[in-house]
Amino acid sequence: MNPGIEEISLPDVASIQIRRMSLPLRSPVVTAHGAIATRDVIVLRLVDAEANIGHGEAAPLAGFTSETVDEAEQALHHWADDPENPLPPTARAAVDGALLDLAAQAAGRPLHDLLAPGSPGVVPVSALVGGITPAEAAGAARAAIDSGHRTVKVKVAAGPFEADLARLIAVREVIGDARLRIDANGGWTADEAPGHLARLADLDIEFVEEPVAGLDALAGVRATSPVPVAVDESISTPVDLDRAIAMGSADVVILKPSALGGPLITAAAAGTATDAGLTVVVTSLLEGSVGIRAAAHLASAIRALDPAPGLATASLLVGDSGPPLLAVDGALHLS
Ligand SMILES: [Mg+2]
Repeated sequence: MNPGIEEISLPDVASIQIRRMSLPLRSPVVTAHGAIATRDVIVLRLVDAEANIGHGEAAPLAGFTSETVDEAEQALHHWADDPENPLPPTARAAVDGALLDLAAQAAGRPLHDLLAPGSPGVVPVSALVGGITPAEAAGAARAAIDSGHRTVKVKVAAGPFEADLARLIAVREVIGDARLRIDANGGWTADEAPGHLARLADLDIEFVEEPVAGLDALAGVRATSPVPVAVDESISTPVDLDRAIAMGSADVVILKPSALGGPLITAAAAGTATDAGLTVVVTSLLEGSVGIRAAAHLASAIRALDPAPGLATASLLVGDSGPPLLAVDGALHLS
């Protein structure tokens, strides 16, 4: 358990609903794993004897989680039949998220405050900037800054490096001294990554997520990288995190509560990472706002607010798993 997190007793559940939803994106998010056009998610609704309602979300994503949405859905039905049945991480995230939401509703307090009394209700978030051409990327970055974000993130490594470099130069030009982070999603080879990172050294990159795939390769790249290295999808369990720490794979660890198994497992992982000297960044899994909300409360509770969490992704969706949690003035406002 993270030392800053209160032990809270989880409520008894009187009824359970499981609902699958399809959430199209406004435009596909292009990553080195491929383009993501639609998110299939499962919403878990729990009701207690006093008619309080808690929601949780399971949002498996190929390339980031090992289970499929069918497997997560089936596991949730098995769990509804018997809570002793095992849950894969995304289904565990739905259950723990829903139980914590229910506990917060029953207590009449925001979840972040229940987990860590006095934690802030405003969570600054980075903005994911799309765009194929430098002009499009610069326009999107300017819009993000104009709407109050102080950190922008750009996906790279889905195409030629020269095109990435041109986009990043254009983005840096318009964002001034705001922070710029990039995510290669493991798309560069161990041979090419050091050269690419050397050429990015002047752009004051906050960190690069997954420049190469795998903890071994990340450790190798980090040894010479002028840009801090973040590990993301190469960690899917707490055991992976221990290995990343032991191998020196990263300066920063990206923790996705929806992929790891929910807020409590993530709080524990964050404590482990922080103790080892790593910087923790909480992000979404491009899930709906039920999952994003759980992640945002957790980020506040563990005070993982700088660097800014990557939780401004509800605006990318058409439709949502719950009331949309959208950034206002560059931050999520929790209640
Ligand atoms: Mg990432």
